[in-house]
Amino acid sequence: MKVKVISVLEDNYMYLVIDEQSKEAIAIDPAVPHRLLEIVSREGVRLTALLTTHHHWDHARGNDALVKELPELRVYGGDDRIPGLTDKVTHGQELKFNAINVRCLFTPCHTSGHMCYFTWEDDCTDSPAVFTGDTLFIGGCGRFFEGTVEQMYHNLTEVLGTLPLDTKIFCGHEYTIKNLKFASLVEPENEKARDDDDKPTVPSTLLEEFEYNPFLRLSEESVQKFTGKTDPIEVLRVLRKEKDNFKKPKERVLPHAMLALEWGLLRP
Ligand SMILES: [Zn+2]
Repeated sequence: MKVKVISVLEDNYMYLVIDEQSKEAIAIDPAVPHRLLEIVSREGVRLTALLTTHHHWDHARGNDALVKELPELRVYGGDDRIPGLTDKVTHGQELKFNAINVRCLFTPCHTSGHMCYFTWEDDCTDSPAVFTGDTLFIGGCGRFFEGTVEQMYHNLTEVLGTLPLDTKIFCGHEYTIKNLKFASLVEPENEKARDDDDKPTVPSTLLEEFEYNPFLRLSEESVQKFTGKTDPIEVLRVLRKEKDNFKKPKERVLPHAMLALEWGLLRP
């Protein structure tokens, strides 16, 4: 099983998973169809299915164009809002694409129909992989747009957090640098927080995430101290809120008049 990591749009990842024996492939969140098709033909493989983590446009918007190009394509997902959906999947459902096995993991919260996909290959000693969309990022977790803190807690601890520790994490966005800046604010003493500059950082492993991702470290004393809470759900609630605010200062845009005042161009 070969995973091609393809950077698209501003900071999205789409993935092509190839079964090298049969030369058949499946794609995860192929938001830029022509890029994907270029790589499909360069690799000399046949694309048979799309797995969509959630309906947001930067993950699902390529589906219709790909189905138009390849009418036999199956489109899997857990939400009726996913364009081109042919097979709605449920939690624990297993799919098979030649030697590639996929277990669908229902992880509602970022969106109410979000799915992660755990994959492994028959007769292969390689580590398994999980495609986590906008639920788990390297060093962080997704925003709670359509769900509750309890749901995200369940996703992180019960659904994803119980996978084998060597599972490779392939997430939906490259947010790693920003996430690790926040992680080191939460746990200044934690030297495991990596900083890989501008290199893409997927995949990490679940074991690595447990070492530096504060959203998977809810019971650590340092994370509890930062949030001022001890109940893990409350710790998660505060962490997510702090992370939402953490981004804001940089993105704040000053009105022109304020800028002019700052620069001394306007005299009151
Ligand atoms: Zn999203």
